[in-house]
Amino acid sequence: MSSIQKSVRTRFAPSPTGFIHLGNIRSALYPWAFAKAQGGIFILRIEDTDLERSNQASVDVILEGMAWLGMNPDEGPFYQMQRMDRYKQVLAELQATGQVYPCYMSIEALDALREQQMAAKEKPRYDGTWRPEPGKTLPPVPEGVRPVLRFKNPIDGVVAWDDKVKGRIEISNQELDDLVIARPDGTPTYNFCVVVDDIDMAITHVIRGDDHVNNTPRQINIFKALGKEEPVYAHLPTVLNEQGEKLSKRNGAKPVTQYRDEGYLPDAMVNYLARLGWSHGDDEIFSRQQFLDWFDLDHLGRSAAQFDDAKLRWVNAQHLKASDDEQLALWVKGILSQRGIASDDRLPAICGLFKDRCDTLCVLADWVAVFYGDVVPKADEKVQHVTDAVKPALALLVEKLSICVWDKASIALVIKEVLTELGLKMPQLAMPVRVLVMGTAQTPSLDAVLALCEKQKVLERLKNA
Ligand code: GLU
Repeated sequence: MSSIQKSVRTRFAPSPTGFIHLGNIRSALYPWAFAKAQGGIFILRIEDTDLERSNQASVDVILEGMAWLGMNPDEGPFYQMQRMDRYKQVLAELQATGQVYPCYMSIEALDALREQQMAAKEKPRYDGTWRPEPGKTLPPVPEGVRPVLRFKNPIDGVVAWDDKVKGRIEISNQELDDLVIARPDGTPTYNFCVVVDDIDMAITHVIRGDDHVNNTPRQINIFKALGKEEPVYAHLPTVLNEQGEKLSKRNGAKPVTQYRDEGYLPDAMVNYLARLGWSHGDDEIFSRQQFLDWFDLDHLGRSAAQFDDAKLRWVNAQHLKASDDEQLALWVKGILSQRGIASDDRLPAICGLFKDRCDTLCVLADWVAVFYGDVVPKADEKVQHVTDAVKPALALLVEKLSICVWDKASIALVIKEVLTELGLKMPQLAMPVRVLVMGTAQTPSLDAVLALCEKQKVLERLKNA
């Protein structure tokens, strides 16, 4: 970095070749957070040059997932396919300065070379046949063959960078062969496009998965050839699944939007993902704002993080419990309407009453649905709690409730009266009432639950004993 303080510009550069999962979106979270924490700019760049594997559905998951998590880019999305002319222009500049050269070696010859090197236990690499050097005579150009363009990688010296996660990395240039940067049809290849983009988008910090660590020395050499300074790099360790394998679609990783559909809260996801590779002391639960206030590159973890579904649910439960009732009501209303259930202005209070016993919005919606739809008491609980012995008490309760003012205090009073008149203890009455009214014996305090239920519905359900 130059001594002049540049304002931070980061990017997330996914390839839309499959649905992005939690491991991928974590590679968006950190650059986003770093830009926000530094008052910088976060850019989204869709790397869609693999035409066979890229698809719109994958782009949609990226855009929807980021919007859901509130990680909106300040610039972009830019699509690499729309920048082809620019790459070709920069390629021509490199060509003009003699830093790329045409290579006519056929695929067959390259394969033979590779086999020969492998047999000799050498690392397969292009041997520089077509690389022009002073005093060297190149082979005759074969007719009718369109060449690839290769980048003239420096022969000597090392490429080195201070990785913000991995520390200093040094690679000898002798390890790197001359990279193909344009195909025979003239289209530029991956590493070249990335560098042109990172230059044009003035990226100061590249924060990405460490599966790209091998590309970095090649990219740095291209930066140098273009007379530009490379950004700061931070290569994030892999995210493993619960079986300890690299998280991937093939072994069951879900698209990030599925977590939204399963009732996870965006801030809980941000919290969980943040901790999957970064720490702030022992803090486990924090808000989005706290995360942004605290985030730095110095506390990124060096070892692979392991996804843990139970922990994610726990984090979600903590955020759910701490959420504002009105906000919960908005989310739950959405879920209910997908289920064809209409709600009313009781919704925030119902959410408030049940939120501390739910770990997802869908579980909360299940509870809420009992207030708006039908209820089928759990059979075993009905047998256990709604006994003949308790039926007179239920009848008396119905009688008293039907003339009772419908609020929590009045309902509590009625329950007390029934208990006293029939000499019962609270659970003897509360359990069957819960089973009949809510479908299950496990509910919050009975008076609070009944007060939020419609009177008519309560009476009907109690008469079902
Ligand atoms: N498109 C690459 C990927 O999805 C990321 C490239 C980068 O961040 O430089 O893995």
